[in-house]
Amino acid sequence: MNFNKLALAPEIISNLESLGYLSMTPIQEKSLPFILEGKDVIGQAKTGSGKTAAFGLGLLSRLDVRILEPQSLVLCPTRELAEQVTNELRRLARFTNNVKILALCGGTDEKHQKKSLTHGVHIIVGTPGRIFKLLKDKVIKLNYLEMFVLDEADRMLDMGFHDDILRIEGYTPTEKQTLLFSATFPAEIEDLSSDFQQNPELIQVDMTHGQDEIKQHFYQLDSHKDKNNTVMSILGKFQPESTVIFCKTKLICDALVKDLQKRGVDALALHGDHDQRERTLVLTKFSNNSCLVLVATDVAARGLDINDLQLVINYDISPDPEIYVHRIGRTGREGKGGLAVSLSVAEEQYKIDDISSYLEFKVKYDDVASLDPELEYTVEPAMKTLYISGGRKDKIRPGDIVGAILGTSQVKAECIGDINILNVFSYVAIKSEFADEVVTGLQNGKIKKRNFKIGFA
Ligand code: ADP
Ligand code: MG
Repeated sequence: MNFNKLALAPEIISNLESLGYLSMTPIQEKSLPFILEGKDVIGQAKTGSGKTAAFGLGLLSRLDVRILEPQSLVLCPTRELAEQVTNELRRLARFTNNVKILALCGGTDEKHQKKSLTHGVHIIVGTPGRIFKLLKDKVIKLNYLEMFVLDEADRMLDMGFHDDILRIEGYTPTEKQTLLFSATFPAEIEDLSSDFQQNPELIQVDMTHGQDEIKQHFYQLDSHKDKNNTVMSILGKFQPESTVIFCKTKLICDALVKDLQKRGVDALALHGDHDQRERTLVLTKFSNNSCLVLVATDVAARGLDINDLQLVINYDISPDPEIYVHRIGRTGREGKGGLAVSLSVAEEQYKIDDISSYLEFKVKYDDVASLDPELEYTVEPAMKTLYISGGRKDKIRPGDIVGAILGTSQVKAECIGDINILNVFSYVAIKSEFADEVVTGLQNGKIKKRNFKIGFA
């Protein structure tokens, strides 16, 4: 169904067209009519199903830009997610004049945030800890709040934000619309909803469907010790260009990454022990094609916008079938046909049985002996990531970087991939074979008439 069936402002409709959002995703189609009506909604749909635009269009429609006060508050579990949501909201608001959207998260200078707030804001996106702190300090006031959104609510609960969420809700007016989005729907989410939603509409889509397009392989191993060899054989067999391997713990992630690197696979780990800067670098490398294999825990990877994977490997099978569905849902987006491989040992048969009954199909194991240990994984990352010691604070824009690269080396613009400009530094992806030339060129040249430190990230 088309967006113009909805009561949206014409500039929003034309912006959606310019973004290429031609029809609504299922969660948008089912939830937007209720959201625009002002009803409380619980929306459950897998990652990548377009939940941000579902609530984003709701809060933009409700916004009165003449009132420069927070009218919507969106809580997200992590800073990256809050930034992703902020970016998507800014994209959705491109054609609407003067909408002020601010991300307020932990790990960022509070003084700076307080200063930004003095300029006024319409929509706040943030993590519960920091938002609560700013409310307590009376830096944010929510007297004009119309809409309260909990995004990735299941994950916020996993991360222990339950009490912060309740306290934050205590600062909001009673009369408001509350939307709750979650990839899974455990009892705790139901409880959270009943704490402060009023007769919510429950919208669930894509629960067990869509897996037909994902080819699922299961291997039963004699021992957990065989897993690393099996992972190598699987990479050799499928030659994937993007893979996420899910492990149970941070320690297992690190050990696997170390072993993969020893065997010549440029894998990177993503887990909660990393500081913000490391996480940003890992995610940047993975999304700009300078790293092909990411090894992650569920908590670190859930909700992140890493879509369109060729392969998901369950190095440790989860006892929760919903998590299984969630993990494999990251491959095979948009009907492209995905691939999921799960490793388990005999004692974990009960987990496989749970998945079988949840998905209503009988899991058949593939023969481990059919995997050829001699096959090597030969795919190399197409890009390398460069570090530049200047960012937004130095008023650097993508065009400045492109200009400097083209001006200091012989490469063509096609060699330049994603450019990520962060606060005080930037990352640029360059086709691997030209990366050395570009680094040398930039090291001997200037960007915006200034010298910056340049190197491989
Ligand atoms: P979720 O929050 O459900 O995980 P997101 O809101 O992050 O999903 O959306 C996933 C991707 O789909 C984003 O890149 C977004 O820009 C895109 N998207 C959302 N709605 C549409 C639509 N109607 N048509 C095309 N792309 C869309
Ligand atoms: Mg989301």
